[in-house]
Amino acid sequence: MYDIVIVGSGLGGLLCGYLLSKEGKKVLVLEKNHQLGGCLQSFTRQNCVFDTGMHYVGSMNEGQILWRFFKYFDLLGKVKLRKLDEDVFDLIHIAGDEYKYAQGYDNFISTMLQYFPDEENGLNKYINKFKEIRSAISSFIGESDDEQNMPTMKYFEENAFDFIKSVTSNPRLQDVLAATNPLYFGTSEKTPLYVHAVINNSLLESAWRFVDGGGQIADALAQSIKSQGGDVRKNANVNRFVMNNSDTLVEAVELDNGERIFGHQFISNIHPVKTFEIIDSKLIRKAYLKRINNIEQTMSVFSMYIVLKENSFKYFNYNYYHFENPNVWGADIYSKYKWPSGYMLYTPASSNTGTYAESVNVITYMSYEELKQWDNTTIEKRGQSYKDFKTQKAELLLDLIEKRFPGFRTHIKKYYTSTPLTYRDYTSTLNGSVYGNMRDCNNALKTMVSPKTRIPNLYLTGQNINLHGVLGVSMGAFITCAQFLGTRYIYDKLNNMK
Ligand SMILES: Cc1cc2nc3c(=O)[nH]c(=O)nc-3n(C[C@H](O)[C@H](O)[C@H](O)COP(=O)(O)OP(=O)(O)OC[C@H]3O[C@@H](n4cnc5c(N)ncnc54)[C@H](O)[C@@H]3O)c2cc1C
Repeated sequence: MYDIVIVGSGLGGLLCGYLLSKEGKKVLVLEKNHQLGGCLQSFTRQNCVFDTGMHYVGSMNEGQILWRFFKYFDLLGKVKLRKLDEDVFDLIHIAGDEYKYAQGYDNFISTMLQYFPDEENGLNKYINKFKEIRSAISSFIGESDDEQNMPTMKYFEENAFDFIKSVTSNPRLQDVLAATNPLYFGTSEKTPLYVHAVINNSLLESAWRFVDGGGQIADALAQSIKSQGGDVRKNANVNRFVMNNSDTLVEAVELDNGERIFGHQFISNIHPVKTFEIIDSKLIRKAYLKRINNIEQTMSVFSMYIVLKENSFKYFNYNYYHFENPNVWGADIYSKYKWPSGYMLYTPASSNTGTYAESVNVITYMSYEELKQWDNTTIEKRGQSYKDFKTQKAELLLDLIEKRFPGFRTHIKKYYTSTPLTYRDYTSTLNGSVYGNMRDCNNALKTMVSPKTRIPNLYLTGQNINLHGVLGVSMGAFITCAQFLGTRYIYDKLNNMK
């Protein structure tokens, strides 16, 4: 009998497993796939390591918020990272013009002033808001005892684009400030300021790329859980949460082979919609299910994993965001322009990377709707029409890349592609959605999910609690585990990581 059974070894499941086993709980993490990590999974082709859902992270300078989480989770030194260029960690290309995002608040403002010399006031307001939200998050993790300054719903209820428009009336600067929105695939009408600010602020503080793939995080966490007395099992698909006879508590989870695993408490790291599909209990109300099932999902992506010919294309230590048109809101541009009208491209880093890149990773938006005809297919069994679809899309994307990087095709040794179906089947995100539930500032509460459920011993964790991304999911894991260990108790532990 386990103290806590965790379903899913995505980042959220593994972080909860680490945290609770460190506190002496007997935990078990169950993963349906052969590989741990969910969106953290990396894969290797022709000696190149590719990430499926993890490209860069922020706030990793010593003492910054993600660094403190990494210290707590014993990941420092176990996961290789490379700092992106201080003066340009993201290079933004909008309708023919380029803009550099520089690291550090002052550096960011002075770099932007080179393009927008009259916008000092607006840029200061922009950054001051980031500082305000950052401070609210710090008090959330116990850095400050200022009760007045606790993070509140107000940042979830404020619209990111309205905020950007309030700091500048210059439409190009508005686009530049929203340009990294593929990091959350927002819409100008819905995205809360919280989502925009937490992610962008973290990267402005310091921006880092994984070396040899983000899958190292999953491996390191699983190793730690085992050394702390916990268990991690792969190839263990949970097909049912089993309620007790009186329908008051979950008593076990059932695997495909019929095996039942009993526990006192359960955490689901799988999408809430998928979680409730495998629970049959009167405790879960219809109105709740209706709300959860109706939350819109964020966009999915089409990805290209490109192996390069040796010494043909230079490594660059930043990410490249390309927009053909002066409208950068991912979900907005879908219906407006010919696909693809933009992409994010970067050269992954490996331990061997020198002047030249070994590979390139390109991501562009794609709706699950485009894949509807292959809805009932599984990996490697989708037929020739699917292969043709992927080739056609890859060639369209390469055409666009060629415009900015002439001759790019000649550097390619081989490329591989993935679609929303790949994400659906490998990483188990709902309909291949990249970041799970879309947050909507117009009805913030409706798009938020609590870690508590109506079943007293069943909790949720992962990117649909709080926020997606390494930082968002780490905060979410703390929110979930606080239910077991007490809020003050665990935030004090994090607070000691300095
Ligand atoms: C293309 C892409 C790019 C991204 N880029 C970045 C980035 O640069 N920086 C960043 O910080 N974040 C990035 N993210 C977001 C980040 O990867 C995710 O927010 C985070 O990893 C999600 O973690 P999670 O805990 O919600 O679990 P998930 O990754 O969703 O994992 C859930 C796990 O549960 C398992 N599972 C599902 N059903 C069952 C079952 N029935 N039984 C057992 N196991 C089950 C799945 O196989 C999976 O392993 C990106 C995501 C994507 C998709």
